Amino acid sequence: MPQSSKGTLFTVSAPSGAGKTSLVARLLKETQGIQVSISHTTRPMRPGEQHGINYHFIDHEQFQQMLSQSAFLEHAQVFDNFYGTSQAWVEDTLLGGTDVILEIDWQGAAQVRRLMPDTVSIFILPPSQEALRERLTGRGQDDDTVINRRMAAAVTEMSHYVEGDFVVINDDFEQALVELKAIIHSQRLKLEKQQQRHADLLSALLTQA
Ligand code: 5GP
Repeated sequence: MPQSSKGTLFTVSAPSGAGKTSLVARLLKETQGIQVSISHTTRPMRPGEQHGINYHFIDHEQFQQMLSQSAFLEHAQVFDNFYGTSQAWVEDTLLGGTDVILEIDWQGAAQVRRLMPDTVSIFILPPSQEALRERLTGRGQDDDTVINRRMAAAVTEMSHYVEGDFVVINDDFEQALVELKAIIHSQRLKLEKQQQRHADLLSALLTQA
């Protein structure tokens, strides 16, 4: 596959409740040439979630088997559950010229950056801790103990924002979406990408008449 058709790999990390999934869903709906990787997880399905849409829901044995087959580009334990990104899907999709988003935690994002230094890493943060707690409570899916545990984990997740290339504060959803789109588009306009995309034009423009 020629280098010219390779997509860009993005990681999007955020504490639970920062609006990452909704932002990425709108981004994908309104942007051509980009797909999100569907992770494998041992976490139980939440109400409203669908197998193969939100996650590939698998048991511990299947997860271990994939791990032993080196099927994951990265994997991590978050709370009591395991999560992993399919290496084959990511590589094939990038080689096909499509940009890929990984919605993964800071541990996974760090692993991916080590393996693929060209990865563009984005952190999405809430406007305040209060807003985050409100959003977690508003979901109505988890009890107080779970919410307190998620708040503590959120602070840990947020502390890794300094490892990102870009930071988006999701105070106003539409504004955050504009900013997220701007990051994706800025990468597509980089010199190397434009040279690959417009090789013929650039060559023609530089030919003396
Ligand atoms: P949730 O269970 O609430 O959907 O996700 C919990 C956390 O796991 C989130 O921070 C989410 O980004 C992260 N996560 C989801 N899939 C993956 C994955 O494949 N790898 C890693 N490292 N983290 C993931």
